[in-house]
Amino acid sequence: MLVSGLFPSVSLKLLPVFMYTPLYILIDVMNLMVLTMIVWAVIRRTLVRPHLIPMTLDAGLILGAIGSLMLTHFIYHGYHIAGELSLGGSAPAAFPVSGLLGRALAPLTASQAATGAAMGYWLHILILLTFLNYLPYSKHIHLLGALPNIFTRNRSERKMDLPKINLEDEKQWGVGNFEQFSWKSLLDTYACTECARCTNYCPAYATGKNLSPMQLIHDVRYEMLDRVALKDKIGAIEGELAQLQGYANSHGFDDAHPHPDVIDIKARLLATQQELTDMPKMTGGRIAEDTLWSCTTCGACQEVCPVFIEHPMKIIQMRQNLVLEQEKTPPELQRAFRNLERQNNPWGIGNDQRMDWAKDLDVPTIEENADPEYILWIGCAGAFDTRIIKQTRAMVKVLNAAGVDYAVLGHQEGCTGDPARRAGNEMLFQMLAEQNVEVLKSSGAKKVITSCPHCLHTIKNDYPQFGGDFEVIHHTQLIAHLFEKKQLEAKNSTLGTVTYHDSCYLGRWNGEFDAPRAVLEAMNAPGGVKEMTRNKKHGFCCGAGGGRMFMEEHGERVNVNRADEVIAADVSTVAVACPFCNIMLTDGMKQRNVEDKVAVLDIAEIVAESLDPGLVPVSALMRKKNRTVS
Ligand code: SF4
Ligand code: SF4
Repeated sequence: MLVSGLFPSVSLKLLPVFMYTPLYILIDVMNLMVLTMIVWAVIRRTLVRPHLIPMTLDAGLILGAIGSLMLTHFIYHGYHIAGELSLGGSAPAAFPVSGLLGRALAPLTASQAATGAAMGYWLHILILLTFLNYLPYSKHIHLLGALPNIFTRNRSERKMDLPKINLEDEKQWGVGNFEQFSWKSLLDTYACTECARCTNYCPAYATGKNLSPMQLIHDVRYEMLDRVALKDKIGAIEGELAQLQGYANSHGFDDAHPHPDVIDIKARLLATQQELTDMPKMTGGRIAEDTLWSCTTCGACQEVCPVFIEHPMKIIQMRQNLVLEQEKTPPELQRAFRNLERQNNPWGIGNDQRMDWAKDLDVPTIEENADPEYILWIGCAGAFDTRIIKQTRAMVKVLNAAGVDYAVLGHQEGCTGDPARRAGNEMLFQMLAEQNVEVLKSSGAKKVITSCPHCLHTIKNDYPQFGGDFEVIHHTQLIAHLFEKKQLEAKNSTLGTVTYHDSCYLGRWNGEFDAPRAVLEAMNAPGGVKEMTRNKKHGFCCGAGGGRMFMEEHGERVNVNRADEVIAADVSTVAVACPFCNIMLTDGMKQRNVEDKVAVLDIAEIVAESLDPGLVPVSALMRKKNRTVS
């Protein structure tokens, strides 16, 4: 329409009819569809009012502008067609919707129709140009940001692609101000459509924490806009000063006898510079510390974002700044970091006890089985936590029963560094990662099995940055494979009704939703396998990821929220595939006083129990088949 206004002889009608007609039909019908959507959007925002999506002036202006563009399209073409009809022509097939309006306006004279068409044309152009000028200042900027953001999204298999920090360079100690984010992270902030999906799926937000991932993304953008506006203002004042000073100097003024306007401008410059200096750091300022520490790095936000914004990575980068540069680490995390430094595990239990879990068990160490097919990575929870030790022992029984060729690293194993990295202590993480890569390499490891999805994620996705390239598989993937190859067979299913709780680091971050379910199906539980409402990629976190396992939680607890969903599913067992989920859900059941009614069991424990009833100490609970909780 713009081009045909400037050059009336140019129009789409110059195209061959077979192209022109379908193109205009498409435009005309799409206009009607958009108009219908706008009407629905207004109803939704004013009457239905979805959570977190308010009807703001900005939203009203945008919806109004788009709706008006559609209406003026119909006005222009409707009057145009009416004019042609009044001259004895016919309504063109290319405008099925505008044609209806044209027929309704057919009684008008040709000059009245021409006036109406001109009015529709100019209104359309006026609204379009005004809207385009308003766009950069509105939330509708995502119209420009979303497409490039989608095209430049992280396409690697590593969804949380945390850059390795060069610790020698203090400027790289995380992100304190917006300038330290990559261009891609800043583009993210312009792509947000304000759909609020991320916040609606966030477990921290759902349990009342001071964290809305949507708001966090907007805050980065507001911070950038405010700082850039101040810098621009300083640049403009400096330009003004330089100009005036030249004039003043040529008219006999100097530093000793300055021009009065120069004094004013210098004062303005100083005040604006001071305003910029006084702005608090973004990290810990506009984006509060408790916002950053509330995140479990579960990835639910990133998973649902339609424009591929990566929230958790930004949160971790800002945590890095809090820990490494600002030295603002919550006391519980400081304790966990100290324990990692001294004893190589976050609980601070003597590393000499790392193999105590294996007492009385037939577990080959790397010294005894020097060239195994698999290294069995035990993990700190698997080695030190009394509840998880049972799970580790069950896994060993399963491996032995299936005749798998494996060995453990024994005392050479140390924490993978997952809690340190996710909680922002990159320095500590790098130290632990280098040690472990060295140990794994010298053991000749090629394939690593781990029961902990956090260990899996770290060895698989983070260690390549340190020269460690290993094939890492989760124990549920191996067990599913052993069932498939008939190396394992479930003998005695003692399960009642079972549900499966997805681990964020196994499912969302590493794409494995099926193997744990396949194993459960292979168990032929008499009560069957039930899904909870929030499952697979929309599974609800247990609350322990991102170092939160070692932190205090105030208010409603994430694990209790999830425990309530398990209870509502009316099952006798909830199967887990992660030590942290096991600990958190066990605690959730205790909080709700149902620990003797709903068993929390790792997949390996369920399989081990089926091979050898009575093996796992909780088997008595599992055998009470029909007991469910309402
Ligand atoms: S990673 Fe999870 S906890 Fe963190 S902001 Fe996203 S949804 Fe919320
Ligand atoms: S899901 Fe993505 S687009 Fe939607 S509000 Fe969150 S960050 Fe913005």
